[in-house]
Amino acid sequence: MKCLILLTIIICSLHAIGQKISLTQVIAHRGAWKNTGVPENSIAALQYAIELKCWGSEFDVHLSSDSIPFILHDHSIQGIHIEKSTAAQLAQIKLSNGEPLPTLEAYLAAGKSQQSTRLILEIKSSSISKERSLALATKCVQMVQKLNVASITEYIAFDFDVCKKVKELDPSATVTYLNGDKSPNELAAAGLDGMDYHFSVFKQHEDWLEISRKKKLITNVWTVNDAETMRWFIDRKVDYITTNEPERLIELLK
Ligand code: MG
Repeated sequence: MKCLILLTIIICSLHAIGQKISLTQVIAHRGAWKNTGVPENSIAALQYAIELKCWGSEFDVHLSSDSIPFILHDHSIQGIHIEKSTAAQLAQIKLSNGEPLPTLEAYLAAGKSQQSTRLILEIKSSSISKERSLALATKCVQMVQKLNVASITEYIAFDFDVCKKVKELDPSATVTYLNGDKSPNELAAAGLDGMDYHFSVFKQHEDWLEISRKKKLITNVWTVNDAETMRWFIDRKVDYITTNEPERLIELLK
C-alpha cells in the first residue's frame, strides 16, 4: 500500500514538472476537424477539441443581416453570403455532417458544459462596413455575458478597433490582435493582452517573443501544422500554437 502511495506521488510530481517544462499550449484552429472528418467550425469540431483536452478551440463569427452572430470562416457558405442573409435564411443551412450552421449562442452553449478548453472567439471583419464589425464585437461580448461563459472565452480579431472595442466593453476580457503589424509596445500601449500572429511575423521579428514575455503579453502563433515549425516555437516558449493538427502538437508536447 505504502509503495503504491509513493509511486502515485512520484508520478504526480513528474507530471507537474513536465507541465512546467512544456509551457506552450494547444489551440485547435476552427476546432479539431482535420483528423476527425467533421466540418471546421462545427459544434462537432469543438467537441472533438474538448475531448482532446486542447487548451483552446478557435472559431470565427460573422453577423447576419438582422444582427444574429453565426459561426463560419468564409463570408459565404453554399453561395449564401452571411452578412446579406437573415438568421431565418441561415438557419436552413446544413453543414456536411448534418448539423445546422451554428449560431454563436448555440456554439457557446455547447462549450459551456466544461471548463478545460477555452473558447477562442474570432470576430471577423465585416465585408460591408466598419460599423458592422464593431456591432459584431458588441453582440459577441453581450452573448458571452448572457451565456455566462466569460471565464472560458478569449477574443481575437484582425481589426485593431474591434480589439479595442471589446476591451472597452469588457476590460477584464482577454483580447489579442491578429494582423501582425503592431509591435509589443503598441499592443501594450493600447491596453490589449497580446498578439496572435502568423508564424512568418514571428520569424521576421523573433525578438517580439522575448519582449512580449517581459511585458507579460500573450503570444499565440497561427497556423502551424508541421512538426518542425511547432518545435521552433516550442523552443522559443510561445504561449500558444494554433494548429489544424492538434493531435500532432499534443504528441510533440508530451
Ligand atoms: Mg479564425
